Amino acid sequence: MNLHEFQAKQLFGRYKIPTPNGQVVTSGTQARQAAEQLGGELWVVKAQVHSGGRGKAGGVKLVETLDSVADAAYDMLGQRLVTHQTLAQGLPINQVLVEQPSDIQRELYLAVVIDRVSQQIVFMVSAQGGMDIEQVADETPDAILNLFIDPIVGLQGYQCRRAGFFLGLTGDAFKQLQNLMQGLYQLFIENDGSLVEINPLVVTGQNELLAVDAKVNLDDNALFRHAELAAMFDPAQEDETEVVAQQHGLNYISLDGEVACMVNGAGLAMATMDLIQKEGGSPANFLDVGGGTTAERVAQAFKLILSDSKVKSILVNIFGGIVRCDLIAEGIIQAAKEVELTLPVIVRLEGTNADLGRGLLANSGMTISVAQDLTDAAKQSVAAAKEVAK
Ligand code: GDP
Ligand code: MG
Repeated sequence: MNLHEFQAKQLFGRYKIPTPNGQVVTSGTQARQAAEQLGGELWVVKAQVHSGGRGKAGGVKLVETLDSVADAAYDMLGQRLVTHQTLAQGLPINQVLVEQPSDIQRELYLAVVIDRVSQQIVFMVSAQGGMDIEQVADETPDAILNLFIDPIVGLQGYQCRRAGFFLGLTGDAFKQLQNLMQGLYQLFIENDGSLVEINPLVVTGQNELLAVDAKVNLDDNALFRHAELAAMFDPAQEDETEVVAQQHGLNYISLDGEVACMVNGAGLAMATMDLIQKEGGSPANFLDVGGGTTAERVAQAFKLILSDSKVKSILVNIFGGIVRCDLIAEGIIQAAKEVELTLPVIVRLEGTNADLGRGLLANSGMTISVAQDLTDAAKQSVAAAKEVAK
């Protein structure tokens, strides 16, 4: 789960990681009041969306009067921000963060991630903050220092000092980095983080450190331990279909293709997607309806698939181990009736009561095609999608 920048900065506050003073608001009037309370003569207005690259996309504005704070907030709110990290439709801006400006002398990069290869938490440190770290990693990999953390002993003082030297920090900033990194490590562990990123981590004119941006990703599988963080979930930032799927306990991820698939079991779902691809098509989604699925869930999954306008054909691939194929067939028929299905559906049923299931489908009077086997199912679905697209 992703947090918004303002939520991440609240969390930072608990670990004494310094951030600019600011307030999150939902209207132009509130933005003006927030700026008045913050005081000063310059303010930063920042769109709160689950994406980086906001600066370049017009989602971060430096403004000089209270009127322009209100205007900037008013202009952003209710719009969608498109960045190079978002899909073409962008993400909705429902909140903006009004902050005091920072006196930026240098922009550094600091992140904590889990490295799959070493299976350790790693601190990534670079003096080239503010820009895309992917680009830095590509073009000048030596500009990034990776510090691997032994889980038994945790982050060590010498590692923080190494980071400080690598970044060329001196005096107060050097000392502050030690505390900041320890705080960040604590935050990461205690909240079951999967990524925490500060880009830019700023060195101010007073040689102090300040987290001007904040990104926190949490491990979904550990969210049950953090009710307060789980409550920060913002469904507006997520793919609508994926949110609905989650509510129904379905594992759904939307993709770019045109052949929808509904499968029981993640492994089988992946194999199905591979086969679609092999036959010259491209999957519209990943959907695992689970092992012990019911007719209702199948119906729900069907509706979900059909809410995606890209879909041109549907491949249902069920291996009935625990689940009975005749129940699945009933679910498909029920759903097809409810949603007035017009798209071609190709079904591959195998396992418990498969013959019964196939019979039900064949006699349903609907345009549901029963495939011989998985390869046949993939071939038929791809061909059907091409036919519909014509
Ligand atoms: P991102 O583009 O989504 O990563 O948003 P950031 O919060 O990182 O802001 C983008 C850029 O805006 C930063 O790298 C800074 O250069 C600039 N910026 C953000 N806050 C301030 C500020 O308070 N003062 C100044 N001068 N620039 C800022
Ligand atoms: Mg940033």
